[in-house]
Amino acid sequence: MIKMDGKNLSLKIKEDLKSDLYSYFQTPILAVVTVGDDEASKVYVNNKKKACEFVGISMMHFNYDENADEAEIINKIKELNEDKTVNGIILQLPIPKKFNSRKILNTIDPNKDVDGLTDISMGRLMSGNSSLIPCTPKGILEIFDYYKIDLEGKNVVIVGRSDLVGKPLILECLKRNATVTACHSHTKNLEEYTKNADVLIVAVGKKHLIDKDMVKEGSVIIDVGITRENGKIYGDVNPNVEEKCSYVTPVPGGVGPMTVSMLLKNTVTAYKMMNEETLEDNKKLELK
Ligand code: NAP
Repeated sequence: MIKMDGKNLSLKIKEDLKSDLYSYFQTPILAVVTVGDDEASKVYVNNKKKACEFVGISMMHFNYDENADEAEIINKIKELNEDKTVNGIILQLPIPKKFNSRKILNTIDPNKDVDGLTDISMGRLMSGNSSLIPCTPKGILEIFDYYKIDLEGKNVVIVGRSDLVGKPLILECLKRNATVTACHSHTKNLEEYTKNADVLIVAVGKKHLIDKDMVKEGSVIIDVGITRENGKIYGDVNPNVEEKCSYVTPVPGGVGPMTVSMLLKNTVTAYKMMNEETLEDNKKLELK
């Protein structure tokens, strides 16, 4: 059984990005918009800031309190859309329920939508035309590539169908010619599906929902779930599956670190899309 080390892979990706960024004429900029006082969001934004600093991306943070006017937040995003030095924009979720998060998200210019969550980005994903794939699914695809897990013809079962994780994964696994089954809270006899999975991806948020009796011998298991209990973090998959599976992502240290590095990667991709011509010209000058 191989534990797929997302922490190390993420570090390798960040180091590659860092050396890539040395040759850029301008520092890429990521703008993060937060609303309210969510404690977990503070930790996530801080992790993003540290990761940006590590690779050489500049992060701007705009925080609005929960009494802010929605129009004010939308206007800030419009301003960031227009700013040619800003390459990526994210709205850190969740935001307080009184705000229309879809409306705010959809204000983000799709070419700067480095979380891949606007309606246009989702449409691009659907048509197989996306450069900015949502970070967690993209991180999982990178894990598959790094560990040479070929999905062609495999039974891939995805538990969870959120816009953030499950739905983009359904499309991306189909693109890799897997036979995809999507399970959710209304699925009856979940284990009938999970037992048949060559590759099982679980993104639910219920501690140890999946245990060894629910998985196939030799399967590949990706655990996206995070449950915090008494200061510890648990995944959706019971570690006892390690007796049966061939590959598994640990929690913590599997998918989580990959999500942050994919945000950086998407920011660099957005930067390249915005500066394609200048980067090409610089390459030509270097060759001369
Ligand atoms: P979400 O929006 O709450 O979606 C959860 C999904 O699980 C829904 O589709 C829901 O079905 C399904 N579900 C709930 N109970 C179920 C059950 N008993 N059996 C089967 N399916 C069930 O959550 P999310 O944003 O996708 O996140 C899922 C988990 O991943 C959370 O723990 C989150 O913290 C974690 N996460 C981790 C990372 C990372 O970087 N590691 C990134 C994102 C999320 P319905 O659609 O029918 O409600």
